[in-house]
Amino acid sequence: MAQSDPVVIVGAGPVGLCLALALAQQDVPVLLVEAMTDENFLDQVPRAGSNHPTTLEFFDLIGLYDKLEPRGIVAPKFHYWDRQDNALIAEFDHALLKDDTRFPFVLQCERIKIIEEALKLAKAHPLIEVRMATEFIGFSQNADRVLAQVKNAAGDGETLPARYLVSAEGARSIARKELGLDFEGFTYPERTINIEVAYDFRKHGYTERNYISDPVEYSNLFHWKGPPDRWRIHFPTNIDDDENELKRPEALQRRLRQFLGIDHDFEICGCNLYTVHQRVASRFRVGRVLLAGDAAHVNSPIGGMGLNSGVHDAFNLADKLARILHGEAEDIELDRYDRQRRHVAVKHTQAQTIRNKRLLEERDPAVRQRNHDELRRQAEDPTLARKFLLRTALFDSLREAAQIE
Ligand SMILES: Cc1cc2nc3c(=O)[nH]c(=O)nc-3n(C[C@H](O)[C@H](O)[C@H](O)COP(=O)(O)OP(=O)(O)OC[C@H]3O[C@@H](n4cnc5c(N)ncnc54)[C@H](O)[C@@H]3O)c2cc1C
Repeated sequence: MAQSDPVVIVGAGPVGLCLALALAQQDVPVLLVEAMTDENFLDQVPRAGSNHPTTLEFFDLIGLYDKLEPRGIVAPKFHYWDRQDNALIAEFDHALLKDDTRFPFVLQCERIKIIEEALKLAKAHPLIEVRMATEFIGFSQNADRVLAQVKNAAGDGETLPARYLVSAEGARSIARKELGLDFEGFTYPERTINIEVAYDFRKHGYTERNYISDPVEYSNLFHWKGPPDRWRIHFPTNIDDDENELKRPEALQRRLRQFLGIDHDFEICGCNLYTVHQRVASRFRVGRVLLAGDAAHVNSPIGGMGLNSGVHDAFNLADKLARILHGEAEDIELDRYDRQRRHVAVKHTQAQTIRNKRLLEERDPAVRQRNHDELRRQAEDPTLARKFLLRTALFDSLREAAQIE
C-alpha cells in the first residue's frame, strides 16, 4: 500500500462530505468522487433536513454549523397533534437539554443546503480532492489496498488506488451490491406524498416540526426557510393511487383544504412522491471497503433519523480510520465500527422510526388514547421529557454505541 494513497469516498451526499471533512481535519488525504456535475448538483429532490443537536455538534467540529445556521430555522420545540380532534397532544422543548448540549434545538436546514455548504468547504480543503462528474462503477481489493474503478468526467475508465474505500453512495450503493451483502428489511407498500406550500401553518397553532396522528390520514408538517418561506407536509397515499392524479394541482389543493378545514387557495411550490424502506446491510465492513449512511441503512423519515444517523456513522468512522492510518490503532478497530453502527441502525433508527409510524397511523381507538396519554404524561414531566428528548435527539444511540467493544 502506498502511504500516499488516499481514502476514496464515493458520494458527495451529507455523509460522504462530512466524512471527507472529518478525515481531512485529522490529516488524512481524501479523494471524493461524485457522479453529479457542478451544474446539476443542486437539482436534487427535497429530502432530509431536521438536524438534531447531536448532529449539530458534529457539524460544528468541521466548521459546517456556522454556515448552516443562517440558512436554517432554529426549532427548539416539536409537537404531536391529534388530527381527529384537531388538538395538540404534546409539546416537547429541547430547552430541557440545555445542560446536555450547546445546541438545545433542532436546526431545520435542508439536505441541499448542507451539501452545498459542505462541498464548498471540501473543495477549499488542501487534503481533499473532489472529482465531480465521476461515476464509481466497481472495485477490487486485496489485503493492502482497494482499486476503485470509475468513469471519469471525460467518460474514460480510470482506476483509483485507495487505502480504504467508503461507499457513501446512498441507498443504491454499488459497493454493497458488489460485496453481495443482503439489505435486510422491508419496503412499506404505500407511497408518501410530500407537498411544499408557502403558507404559515403557525396561524393554526402548529410549531416548526409537527407529527400528526390520524387513523385515516396521518401527516408530518415541517417549516423551512426560504425564500420563499415554505412548509412541507407529508401524507400517506393508497397503494393503487395513480401518480399523475395524486400530483394534480386540484388534488393537492383539496388535500390541504381538508387538512386545515378551511377554504383557501394555497401557493404550492412543489410536490414529490416517495417510497419508504426499512433496511440495514448485513455488514458495514468487508476488508478495506466500508459502508456509511444510506448505503448501509435506510429508514422511514418520520423522526428525521436517516441523515442524522448517517452523519453519526461518518464521524465514528473518521475517528477510527484516522487512528488506523496514523498507526495509533489496528485495522480490526473497523469491525467495531460495524458493531457499533449496525447496532444503532437496527436497535435505534429502525426500531424508533417503525414505532413513530405506528404511533401516527394507529387505528384502534383504545390504543390511540393510550399512546396519546403516554405522550402527554412524558411531555408534562420535565424529567421524563428530557429522557424522551435524549432518545429522539439520538444522544442515547451515541452513548450506547460508545459502550460497544
Ligand atoms: C422525503 C425524505 C425526507 C427525509 N427527511 C429526513 C430528515 O428530516 N432527517 C433525516 O435525518 N433524514 C431524512 N431523510 C433521509 C436522508 O435524506 C438520507 O438518509 C440522507 O440523504 C443520506 O445521506 P447519504 O450521504 O448517505 O446519501 P445521499 O444523500 O443519497 O447521497 C449519495 C450521493 O452519492 C452519489 N452517488 C450515488 N451513486 C454514485 C456513484 N455510483 N458514483 C458516484 N457518486 C454516486 C449521489 O449522487 C449522491 O450525491 C429523508 C429522506 C427522504 C426521502
